[in-house]
Amino acid sequence: MEKEITCTICPMGCRIMVCGEGEVIQSVKGYTCARGEQYARSEFVHPVRILTSTALVSGSSEPLVAVRSSRPLPKELLMNCMKKIHMLHLQAPVYRYQVLIPNIMDTGVDIVATGEAKTQD
Ligand code: SF4
Repeated sequence: MEKEITCTICPMGCRIMVCGEGEVIQSVKGYTCARGEQYARSEFVHPVRILTSTALVSGSSEPLVAVRSSRPLPKELLMNCMKKIHMLHLQAPVYRYQVLIPNIMDTGVDIVATGEAKTQD
């Protein structure tokens, strides 16, 4: 299987072709630096993404607060993680970097607030 991967490590956005099957990689072409090659190998075998979303808040003038994963999550778990985030119903105050879901789906990754929701006056 051949897969084109756009490197997101730096703004150059090199297009890297990875050829392989499962966890066995036969060739990697198109990278400009070693970091890009490593990124493409990792993306081919086990793609991960930072998850960003919003969660409902009560008791604040802000109805939603921005959230994200503390580290990249396996791509295949993103939909289920998103469902868990959408089930959240927080109570103000919510503080920036507050852990909202620790160890989501046993990944060792937390879902944290990246915004704030103060209590209504
Ligand atoms: S391969 Fe290297 S130069 Fe190209 S986008 Fe990735 S990090 Fe940047």
